[in-house]
Amino acid sequence: MTQHFGDRLMYIGGEFVASESGEWMDSVNPATGEVHGRVPAGTVEDVNRAVAAAKAAQPAWAALHVFERSRLLRKLAEAIRNKTDVLPLEAADTGNTIGSLAGDIVLAAGYIDFVAGLGMEIKGESVPATPNNIHFTMREPYGVVGRIVPFNHPFLFAAAHLGAPLIAGNTVVLKSPDQSPLSASVMAEICHEILPPGVVNFVSGVGTVVGDAIVRHPDVPRIGFTGSVGTGMAIQRAAAETAVKHVSLELGGKNPFIAFPDCDPEEIATAAVNGMNFTWSGQSCGSTSRLMLHESIYDEVVERIQAKVSAIQMGDQMDPASQMGPVNSEPHYNRIMEIIESAKQEGATVINGGKRPEGDQFKRGYWVEPTVFGDVTMNMRVARDEIFGPVLAVMKWNDTDEVIAMANELDLGLTAAVWTNDLKLAMNTVRALECGLVWVNGTGRHYLGTGFSGWKNSGLGREECLEEVLSYTVVKAVHIIL
Ligand code: NAP
Repeated sequence: MTQHFGDRLMYIGGEFVASESGEWMDSVNPATGEVHGRVPAGTVEDVNRAVAAAKAAQPAWAALHVFERSRLLRKLAEAIRNKTDVLPLEAADTGNTIGSLAGDIVLAAGYIDFVAGLGMEIKGESVPATPNNIHFTMREPYGVVGRIVPFNHPFLFAAAHLGAPLIAGNTVVLKSPDQSPLSASVMAEICHEILPPGVVNFVSGVGTVVGDAIVRHPDVPRIGFTGSVGTGMAIQRAAAETAVKHVSLELGGKNPFIAFPDCDPEEIATAAVNGMNFTWSGQSCGSTSRLMLHESIYDEVVERIQAKVSAIQMGDQMDPASQMGPVNSEPHYNRIMEIIESAKQEGATVINGGKRPEGDQFKRGYWVEPTVFGDVTMNMRVARDEIFGPVLAVMKWNDTDEVIAMANELDLGLTAAVWTNDLKLAMNTVRALECGLVWVNGTGRHYLGTGFSGWKNSGLGREECLEEVLSYTVVKAVHIIL
């Protein structure tokens, strides 16, 4: 039977509150489709209250010594690290397998610790602009920052995305995703114990209402968004209609994995399966979902991938033995299935999966078998659309220029993987790729401090590095005339 997590309130001005409308939104367990909790259906008025609370709290927060903000953030990180009881709720609400989710807590806490240590780097420069006078720049917080996050790792994002704006002296209004909204309330409870009221505010509700109201609010000059390209563009438009706002965007990817002929097929097969993040049902922006195999290794790698992917243990996301759960929601399931059907019709070969799994356990909810298509060409939808699901498209190539052109052909440019032991070939390929992050003989992992960002339609601005912290400040030049 589906566990029920009850009504989860919003958190505004240090208080746990329902929406002023009195309306609620259901959240479902994607394994069963059953309702297992509710959050308030926030309104524009709720956003106004949250922004007012954040605005009122900001001057005192910014006036704290940066060491004090660091100390509080480290306390927050420690509390997150100890909050392992969020895992069953997060697994149930997202469909992510509980065995892998523990890593999200470690990542969130680690990220907040990382930015807590960067407080003293929020500094300006002195410039010898004239011989007699003093010229320098200083950095100040924007004020209230709006952060809007997606459904795939809602607790990780609700936690980690607070760090950079807070250490820089801003306060935050964060909107949780409507498809997996429950765990934001757990993060609110942690904030309530540690931070002054109003410093962080959590609002739930529909993106086109609550998200849009945050973006358009005149007292929110800086917006940090993680989500799809379409919503990112809508946010840019809405922001521009209201004011000159500073927007950063972490968006989607359709990321190439290029395997050169000198690769070991077994290593490539393992890396390709890992890079697809089947453990998150492929719902990861950085997934290398376009595997481009040199024709000389194609058959051997594909055979090994099939063996590995068919062995993935699908099952209840609450069972630590499960290696892959359902996808996140019904609309998402329908879209993934539509693209799978398009691939079949356009002539791709089903190497694995391609349908709902069999068995009573999978009759309800939103289950998609881990799917691999072979003989994919760049004109197919499965090769072009970000699916954000458990679907790997495998392509064959025989010319280096051609494969680089295939990799760069799309208007997305988030990550890429290049596999070869030829250093010169690897570096020439890295240089030619149009994307924000390249793994050479690796996949998937983020390396804190080096940054994460997309080129082209995959994003604007960099996160997970000092640049992110500085991006939550505005620069002022000061000239002391002596
Ligand atoms: P999404 O549909 O764009 O939604 C993201 C967030 O935006 C949700 O909270 C959503 O609210 C809100 N929203 C929707 N319309 C809005 C509007 N008009 N104004 C303001 N906010 C609005 O994305 P998703 O389906 O949740 O997430 C999947 C996407 O996120 C994929 O494209 C994936 O690649 C990307 N992603 C990128 C990164 C990265 O770091 N680059 C990381 C993770 C995910 P509702 O939930 O209420 O619709």
